[in-house]
Amino acid sequence: MSHSLLPVDISDQVAALYTRMEEQYDLVAQELSFACTGCSDNCCDSYFQHHTNLEWAYLWQGLKLLSAEELATVKALAQKYDDVEKEKVAEGKRPEMMCPLCVNELCSVYQHRLLICRLHGVPTGLTQPDGKVVNFPGCFRCQEITEGMGVVPRMDRTRFYQEFMELEKKWLGVRQYVVPKVKLTIAEMILQGEPDFSYCDF
Ligand code: SF4
Ligand code: SF4
Repeated sequence: MSHSLLPVDISDQVAALYTRMEEQYDLVAQELSFACTGCSDNCCDSYFQHHTNLEWAYLWQGLKLLSAEELATVKALAQKYDDVEKEKVAEGKRPEMMCPLCVNELCSVYQHRLLICRLHGVPTGLTQPDGKVVNFPGCFRCQEITEGMGVVPRMDRTRFYQEFMELEKKWLGVRQYVVPKVKLTIAEMILQGEPDFSYCDF
């Protein structure tokens, strides 16, 4: 594997956390007899901004596994995405465009995709730091399944988010106090390259 910004132990812990998330997702999906098979939609056109350096660095681990040609294609698609996204946002519209990493309806970096990509589909819930619980209904196909259900099985995002944030802090160490907050689309993460902490002289 190419040289990575992430130490191996942190990278392994991210992979293990993502595996546990997948297991939890699968349990809820099984309970609802829900699967993406045969879906006519492709939810990789949903618009998101992402907020952690850890996801960003882990995504770049995946991008570095692409061939030079594949990476050049992804960068060109990311540039197109970024141009349109900025235009739409300036017009006050919510962009809806296919993710630059979706090639032939498949994710080019599936093992390294972002946190939110791993949650879309089944109903989920999140307990915020103030104790407020926010529920997400899942994708339109899942909502068809859960319609009229009294108690809906759902995946709890809370502990996974907490663990992910803890892991990011462990990785960043004292840098966590100086690195700027992340608020980037996936296209911006691609175009900007790996997170750069070279200005941290510690
Ligand atoms: S990173 Fe992969 S899974 Fe996530 S939106 Fe893009 S193509 Fe879809
Ligand atoms: S998550 Fe839902 S909308 Fe997306 S591909 Fe699967 S079934 Fe279709």
